[in-house]
Amino acid sequence: MSVRTRFAPSPTGVLHLGSVRTALFCWLFARHHGGKFILRVEDTDRERSTVENVQAILQGLDWLGLDWDEGPYFQTQRFDRYREVIEAWLEDGTAYHCYCTREELDALREQQMAAGKMVHYDGRCRDRRSPREGVDPVVRFRNPTCGEVVVNDVVRGNVVFENAQLDDLIIARSDGTPTYNFSVVVDDFDMHITHVIRGDDHLNNTPRQMNMLAALGAATPVYAHLPMILGPDGAKLSKRHGAMDIREYREEGYLPQAMLNYLARLGWSHGNQEIFSVEELIALFDLPNVNQSASSFNPEKLLWLNQQHIISTPSEELVPELRRLLVRLGLDPDNGPDPRHVAEAFHERAETLLHMAASARFCYEDFEAFDPRSAKKQLRPVILGPMRAVRQKLAAVEHWGQSAIDEAIRAAAADYALPFGKLGQPIRVAVTGGAVSPPLDTTVWLVGKDRTIERLDRAINFIEKRDAGDIG
Ligand code: GLU
Repeated sequence: MSVRTRFAPSPTGVLHLGSVRTALFCWLFARHHGGKFILRVEDTDRERSTVENVQAILQGLDWLGLDWDEGPYFQTQRFDRYREVIEAWLEDGTAYHCYCTREELDALREQQMAAGKMVHYDGRCRDRRSPREGVDPVVRFRNPTCGEVVVNDVVRGNVVFENAQLDDLIIARSDGTPTYNFSVVVDDFDMHITHVIRGDDHLNNTPRQMNMLAALGAATPVYAHLPMILGPDGAKLSKRHGAMDIREYREEGYLPQAMLNYLARLGWSHGNQEIFSVEELIALFDLPNVNQSASSFNPEKLLWLNQQHIISTPSEELVPELRRLLVRLGLDPDNGPDPRHVAEAFHERAETLLHMAASARFCYEDFEAFDPRSAKKQLRPVILGPMRAVRQKLAAVEHWGQSAIDEAIRAAAADYALPFGKLGQPIRVAVTGGAVSPPLDTTVWLVGKDRTIERLDRAINFIEKRDAGDIG
């Protein structure tokens, strides 16, 4: 049997962390077993489904590299097929028309509540022979009335449901449109789904779906219901815990491989290992290692993992996204150093690519003012002479490169009998505006010759004015 999993998002919202985790587990499981991963858009709720949400879902999956082998199928394009099954079921008695009005059902509910009974549809139209004039009926599935349905869930173990507790589900509304639980069943059947991996908020739908699958003559797929993801405060994960739309993580400079690594660990483990490449996840992932209990979203850990992945990813692979983020920050990646060199220089120190792009701002754009604290500490009159010397020596460098830059600064420091560090930090402030940047020779190299000279002049001017008492 070859494995076939499906990810079946409803485009009533964007792709959020919880759904990505579901998609990831379906994808990993299919990839691990050399099976197929199918994408199915469950858009039967026409009022709440939007084209934008479909786009958000497809873009999110695409960014993460969760590629699908079949689909996207759209349920709204399969209505003829659903109707065909409904007709066949009406024909052979698997389903029946129900003419009960809202008022009748309300009265039934009240009676059941008053008698302290379970509220459910009592099957009163099951044996009805004739239509009721002027009423458009719904169609109900004739659920078995006795016995039990055992969901043999890979994550949860056996979960037993009594058929007596399940009423006859509506499978088509009075306007003929199929309902959600029914469409899922027809799709899982038609698409030969072998493993249904989804959030455990669907566990209660499963016995009904299993009964309908049995009515179709389908073998029961393997079910795996994934535990919820909670926020750090223990409440169900929601907007107030951070970005929900997966695309926002991209804009914040997270790497797809870090997101996948993080989400894989939310509910699955392999010993104590924390850092996984996507290839390792595919090789190691399997359903029996999925945890039973809910897991909590921890933004600090995600950030840490992102940094680890930035460090381990070859810098040239970071370049396209870094470029995009530089542009997003209003910077021109072509008006400054090659972003590849920026990626190399900032590789070890950026928690996110957005952080990297923002830290490299000084390479592409002049800063407005020196950071006041750094300027106060570093741009002092004593440094004027050595800084002028550095300016002169750097202006004379013909082949702008890290070693020539390093030599020039060292020579200027030696001329003034200054330890390198005493001169290095003022130069850093002069060329970057602040106190933090990659090693000085790299920093100056990235800034480029012309900009470095201009900025040293600016710092020299600043100190001169300060010396003359014009600046604090
Ligand atoms: N469309 C459902 C959802 O977005 C998933 C249903 C399923 O996986 O069976 O929650």
